[in-house]
Amino acid sequence: MDEEGWFSVTPEEIAIRHAERSGGGCVIDCFSGVGGNTIQFAKMCHHVVAIDIDPHKVELAFNNAKIYGVADYIDFIIGDFFQLASSLKGDIAFLAPPWGGPAYKTIPNFSLDLLKPKDGYSLFQAAQAITPNIIMFLPRNVDLRQVEELSWLSSPPLNIEIEENYVQNHLKGITAYFGGTAFGKLDL
Ligand code: ADP
Repeated sequence: MDEEGWFSVTPEEIAIRHAERSGGGCVIDCFSGVGGNTIQFAKMCHHVVAIDIDPHKVELAFNNAKIYGVADYIDFIIGDFFQLASSLKGDIAFLAPPWGGPAYKTIPNFSLDLLKPKDGYSLFQAAQAITPNIIMFLPRNVDLRQVEELSWLSSPPLNIEIEENYVQNHLKGITAYFGGTAFGKLDL
């Protein structure tokens, strides 16, 4: 872990939940960071393509995956998701994009425009080039109306399911499941 990794990593219980909900196949973890989600996807016998723009993060994720004994199930790519998206193939795109650091908590209604390095709509469009089966992990204070609007970027609109993620009675984030990942496991 590096310092940023401590506040950025998805809590383990939630990463396990995401992996359980995904159902199998090849998962593209588009902003893998130090590998909290990547490792849980790989433990559920998925194949994972883990992307991060920061070579140091990828090195840490690789080391963490070795510790958990799942490195063989993961292809690590150092690169910009937005540049890579059109050339990627996978069954599920998992998006836990940068929320802009711990300051997101101070915003009453977190707009998708605040996501980095591009807004949530551009991010979702890029992921749709891979698959309509998209899982997005977002701040607990995200504007849910905007999240629902993402499903309308597709015609016909994608199925969408929104889940609140609690750890020890604290709301830690919101997960939006789109396409085949909504309402139960994706049947691959
Ligand atoms: P948070 O704000 O949620 O703490 P981070 O700033 O840690 O999120 O970002 C999550 C990860 O996304 C980081 O490891 C960062 O290197 C990575 N990242 C940022 N931009 C890109 C990009 N364009 N493509 C791939 N990975 C990226």
